[in-house]
Amino acid sequence: MVSQAGVGATSVEVALRIKPLTLEDLEKMPSRFQRHVITTSYTPGQVIVEADKRQTFQYDYVFGPDASQEEVYEKSVINLLGKFLEGYNVTILAYGQTSSGKTYTMGTADNVFIPPESKGMIPRTMSTLFEKIESEQCKKSKFTVKVSFIEIHNEDLIDLLGEGEEDERPPVTIREDSKGNIYWTGLQEVKVNNVDEVIRYLLRGSENRQVGVTDMNAKSSRSHAIFSVTMIHKKFVPYGSPTTPSPDSSQNVDIHDSLAKANTNFEGFDDGEWETITSKFHFVDLAGSERLKRTAASGDRAKEGISINSGLLALGNVISALGDPSKAKQMTHVPYRDSKLTRLLQDSLGGNAQTLMIACVSPAEFNLNETINTLKYANRARNIKNMASVNKEESGWNDVTHLQGLVIKLRAEVSTLKNQIANANHQQQLGTGYTSPGRVTPTTPTTPSGIKLPTRSNSISVIPGRSTPTSGIPGRSTPTSGIPGRSTPTSGIPGRSTPTTGMPGRSMYNNIGNGRESTNRMRPGSPLTAFTHNTHNGNAQLHKDKEVEVLEEQLIQLQRSYAELSKKYAKTSAELAMHQNNYDELENTKSEPQIESYETMISSLESNLAITNAALLHSETLLQEQENQMKELEQENEINKKTISDLQSRIEDLESKLQNQEVGTRVKIQSDGRPEKFISETVQLLEKRLEEKD
Ligand code: ADP
Ligand code: MG
Repeated sequence: MVSQAGVGATSVEVALRIKPLTLEDLEKMPSRFQRHVITTSYTPGQVIVEADKRQTFQYDYVFGPDASQEEVYEKSVINLLGKFLEGYNVTILAYGQTSSGKTYTMGTADNVFIPPESKGMIPRTMSTLFEKIESEQCKKSKFTVKVSFIEIHNEDLIDLLGEGEEDERPPVTIREDSKGNIYWTGLQEVKVNNVDEVIRYLLRGSENRQVGVTDMNAKSSRSHAIFSVTMIHKKFVPYGSPTTPSPDSSQNVDIHDSLAKANTNFEGFDDGEWETITSKFHFVDLAGSERLKRTAASGDRAKEGISINSGLLALGNVISALGDPSKAKQMTHVPYRDSKLTRLLQDSLGGNAQTLMIACVSPAEFNLNETINTLKYANRARNIKNMASVNKEESGWNDVTHLQGLVIKLRAEVSTLKNQIANANHQQQLGTGYTSPGRVTPTTPTTPSGIKLPTRSNSISVIPGRSTPTSGIPGRSTPTSGIPGRSTPTSGIPGRSTPTTGMPGRSMYNNIGNGRESTNRMRPGSPLTAFTHNTHNGNAQLHKDKEVEVLEEQLIQLQRSYAELSKKYAKTSAELAMHQNNYDELENTKSEPQIESYETMISSLESNLAITNAALLHSETLLQEQENQMKELEQENEINKKTISDLQSRIEDLESKLQNQEVGTRVKIQSDGRPEKFISETVQLLEKRLEEKD
């Protein structure tokens, strides 16, 4: 079902849901307009609209009036939950005119009294989510699930889970981080542990939506509601294990597979690190998509109408920009900032997310126009390409204590390996009866960090090395207090004065090897082979050489990692120090209330801008409509002119015929000798007829 374009690109999927006509619907519409005009086809994903003309539309999924909530969930939503568990951001948008079934499908207003078969997508998804993360498969991971519920009404963001009076709550603002991820501030995010809690919060949200509103339905159809779930998944990943698969690795996602992928069981590994994956699931119950003309009155209501339409209009423009290939070429930017809705959904449309639009329609002829609009809108959404990727973060690179621990561990490993090499050399010498042929041993070589390296001519005693550098990283007096690393931000790991020299151990060995060049002909590639030229014990010696070579290779690898880690450590320390400085500066220059007041100001400016934009867009639409009407009138005018000129030529034609007839009649009268009176009556009659023709 998921079409793909390049790595990680997926289309926005679109499901069409045709609702059954309820008793309430039937009461509202005249019986002559109750005829069903939209039907499903035998071709999967196709619907047929039979009105003045027959039209067909194609979607990823089509659900007829008989489709149950379970069917919609199993066929179009559960796949996305799989993706969510793997670490992708997911968004489901319900679009359609008021009363088309958006809230019913999403379950945005579900409560404990809703029968199980009618439960919407939110409780169903959450139920499976908890089932999965509590399963045996996931017991090695740690999960945190948080929810938030927000309403956009008149370009205002209202926290539906907020406590206390609305105007006493901190303003909700939309921010973008340096990576382009959208996040919200001032919003309640509450931890949930099971579906019952989720239902409780849905209920609280519905209650908050009703504050001060007499007609709940009327308001809900003019505002957008977004229920968001954030999942933080911490899992242990052993070093060298395969990482999370790429997003396009599976087409039809099996939820069990996803879980297995997301949560590979690394039994028996004790060396690795914790990885944190944060993913977001947005359930968006959009405002009614009906045209402003129908809902708009004046004053506040008109403003409300404009702002709803601004969201949907901006959403439509964003969809056009992303989805219409002809427009995409001309558009240099996607107009996300035109409304709060599109700003909030920025990374769900064309961004880092898997998106499903559920377009809801009524089957009745009464709603034909709106239905066709929805079908067209949804069709455009299918062309959007999203770039989805897993939001994972390897823990540790920003954690100085963790890096210190790692460095200490690596040092210990290096030291152990060195000891092993020295032991092997010693054995070698004992086994071959090798004695130093009077060579003056050079002073024990050391790495730039001060770690002494083994020399071949001496035995164990010359490898004091740094077996267990328990002192941690010297020079870092306060590694955990405050922001560590600030005292020596750029020094990296002290003691390693030249961390970039690559493989210090290697160069030492090479030097030694070079010194013995003349006698070492057997394996010139390995410096340690210098010791084998006197051997009388061929095979055993070769075996040992191999071992030594492997150990040597390992040592080099470790030294490389060590050097890399040193660099990373220095970089992280420097960055931390820089951030701390920035933070300090910010703290010094701006006090908390000032920041808050700036945020409020920015937020209100953004709101004003969005409303102005919306009004502008709305005027543009009206202007366009008027222009179209003008064009139509002009065309009609042209047609009328043509008709008039046709009529005139016909009149002229008739007149000349009449004249001919008159002449004929006169001639006839003269010849018949009829009385004058009769002739004049006839002429009058003819003139009258001519007038009538005119
Ligand atoms: P919207 O949110 O689009 O304004 P609702 O979800 O509130 O519309 O639906 C309007 C009415 O239709 C509600 O009473 C709802 O229960 C009913 N309804 C909508 N879709 C279905 C469906 N698929 N099956 C049964 N009833 C439905
Ligand atoms: Mg609704």
